[in-house]
Amino acid sequence: MTEPPNEPRILLSTPHLGGDEERLMLEALRSNWVAPLGPMVDAFEAEFAERVGSPHAVALSSGTAALHLALIGLGVGPDDEVLVSTLTFAGSVNPIMYLGARPVLLDSEEESWNLDPGLLETVLANRARGGRLPKAVVPVHLYGQPANLPAIMAICDRYGVAVLEDAAESLGATCGDRDPGTFGRAGVFSFNGNKVITTSGGGMLVTEDAALATLARKLASQARDPAPHYQHSMVGYNYRLSNLLAALGRGQLRQLDQRVAARRAHFTAYQAALGDLPGVEFMPAAPWGEHSRWLTTLTLDPATGLTPAGVSATLDAAGIECRPVWKPMHLQPVFAGCEVIGGAVSEQLFRDGLCLPSGSNLTGDQRDRVIAVFRSACALAA
Ligand SMILES: *Cc1c(COP(=O)(O)O)cnc(C)c1O
Repeated sequence: MTEPPNEPRILLSTPHLGGDEERLMLEALRSNWVAPLGPMVDAFEAEFAERVGSPHAVALSSGTAALHLALIGLGVGPDDEVLVSTLTFAGSVNPIMYLGARPVLLDSEEESWNLDPGLLETVLANRARGGRLPKAVVPVHLYGQPANLPAIMAICDRYGVAVLEDAAESLGATCGDRDPGTFGRAGVFSFNGNKVITTSGGGMLVTEDAALATLARKLASQARDPAPHYQHSMVGYNYRLSNLLAALGRGQLRQLDQRVAARRAHFTAYQAALGDLPGVEFMPAAPWGEHSRWLTTLTLDPATGLTPAGVSATLDAAGIECRPVWKPMHLQPVFAGCEVIGGAVSEQLFRDGLCLPSGSNLTGDQRDRVIAVFRSACALAA
């Protein structure tokens, strides 16, 4: 099947504007608040905190910056261990390396594709016997599905280890009646261009801990002491979100419910249209929460002759972008020296997994095209 003439390429997940963004950005421009910090940043933080149900939110230049500052706030330093999901994006692990700490990469469970609480329990028991517990555990809520937070929180509470949630992909999901990102000592969100909502680049750190929020705010603006002259007693960073981008974020946040509803509708339609194909299995929905379906993701059973590379090539030739599932961190050359616990589940998900176009601005016609080409790719392999 070839690309229909004049049809734009169908991309995985693109920014979706169309609410109050233009008006709010103009308001910021006309007020001349073209700076890091400003009233739009304050309002974005307050509105975001309210939306996810956290007392404090700190707007930052990226999700990675938010993770970095949260790790500092939890006291992570050189040679400390930090347990983190191996099946994730490198942005979850890089900030651990910035601090000279040691990531320990934990495999996924099949039920949610997220950090396996059984492995977590084993590792913490083992470390407790050795007398040195990790400084933090970083579960990731992959593709919009919350990790098993009830189990993970209970285990970490028992050992007194702090939880830092990487909720970069899960804005709009729920776990019980709360938002993932608000269970641990801190949680981080990303507003990168492909996420559920975007500020082109940006992130948010949320926490119940007022001191942690204050420290993050200070570190994000070069750690200035409260003095009229420029005085610094700590090494700081330039990580604050600009007032202009916060205006964009406020407009985007107002659209969140519709954006998540659109992504969930894509998942439902894909599953209805493709779920009957032999060897095609959609990412499961774990019972403890509601998946935001940031990306619709599935696995292909190699026994059927289907491979992500083969199906992607057919889709690509028809002008449709797909992506493999994240390559686990323990298979990344840069993290080759890191300890890994298990790994078989994430390796299989990487080998067999594929993400379909899932943007909230994907039209029904475009989705039908993806479905038709996907079915033809499966017929080719059969
Ligand atoms: C996007 C993402 C990040 C990093 O966020 P940025 O805003 O791009 O720095 C971290 N972790 C996960 C799981 C992500 O998907």
